[in-house]
Amino acid sequence: MNQVQGAKTSVGQQRPCRSHLDLFDMDQSGPTEWRTAQRICGACPFLAACRAELAELQAETGFKPLATIWAGDAYTSSGTILPPARFDRYALAVAARQDVRDSSNAATAA
Ligand code: SF4
Repeated sequence: MNQVQGAKTSVGQQRPCRSHLDLFDMDQSGPTEWRTAQRICGACPFLAACRAELAELQAETGFKPLATIWAGDAYTSSGTILPPARFDRYALAVAARQDVRDSSNAATAA
């Protein structure tokens, strides 16, 4: 969970992403979920504020969202914005990295 997604608004309303965090996690879900998350952002009443908060955070601290959907944009594990047309390819790369990790863990445990 990130800071913006974890925050309540000034009027105390819950941000829509708080109820669907699994959809926004680009390490744990896939292209279908990421597209759903982007639709949720697109309909979010806090989208403009969310973008402004992120821009302010980035300007002040150099912060990069990692492996998440934030304010309608998809960020890779290195903080690059990923266009939806590249979601499927990115998902394959994430799965391949996970396979390598799983194989390494299995070899270590043996
Ligand atoms: S725009 Fe997206 S990330 Fe931002 S508060 Fe709304 S649902 Fe959450």
